[in-house]
Amino acid sequence: MAPMDKQLNSFSNLVEALSKLPSIGKKSALKMAYTLCIDDVALGLNIAESINEALHSTRKCNICGGLSEGEVCHICVDSMRSNGKLCIVGHPKDIFLIESLKEFFGKYCVLESIKDFDFEALIKRIEKEKIEEIIFAFAPSLSSDVLITHLQDKLAHLNLKFTKIAQGVPSNVNLDNIDHFSLSKAFIYRVDL
Ligand SMILES: [Zn+2]
Repeated sequence: MAPMDKQLNSFSNLVEALSKLPSIGKKSALKMAYTLCIDDVALGLNIAESINEALHSTRKCNICGGLSEGEVCHICVDSMRSNGKLCIVGHPKDIFLIESLKEFFGKYCVLESIKDFDFEALIKRIEKEKIEEIIFAFAPSLSSDVLITHLQDKLAHLNLKFTKIAQGVPSNVNLDNIDHFSLSKAFIYRVDL
C-alpha cells in the first residue's frame, strides 16, 4: 500500500491497528477505517464505545477461564448446570460456540496452555463439583490427541468417564471453522475414550 499523507496520522494509525487483527489485511483495514471514519460515523462511534466498554468490563472467570463480567461467570454460578459433566475447551471463545449448539448443559474449563495450567485446581474442582464425565472439545488433531492422553493420565485416579468430540469434525481446523450442524453432531455423538 502506498504511504499515506503525513497529515493523516490518526487515520493511518487506525488502518495500522486494524490490520493487526486476525485475518485482516492492509486492504481490508483501509476499507474498514474509511467506513468507520467517513461512510458510517455512527457505526464508528458505536464500535469505539463498545470496544472501550468491553475492554473495561470483560475478564476471565476465576473458575473456568471463560469470559465473564465479574470474578465468576454466569455458567459457573448456575447450580442448574451442575450435572456432573465438565467440558474442556482450548479457548474461551469455544464456549460461545458450544453454548450456541444448545446441546450441553454442564460446566466448562478452558485449557489454553498446558504449561500454565493449574492441575491441582482442576482436580479440586472435579471433586468439589462431583464431576463424572470429562468431555474434550478440542478440534481433532495429533497434538490434541497427545494433550487428551496427557490429561487422562493426570486425572486417571479420579474414576471419570472420558469422551471427546469426533464424528463429522475435520482434523486440524479450529472449532470456529466448523459449521454449526457438524459441531452439533460431533457433540451429540461424542466418543468414549
Ligand atoms: Zn466460569
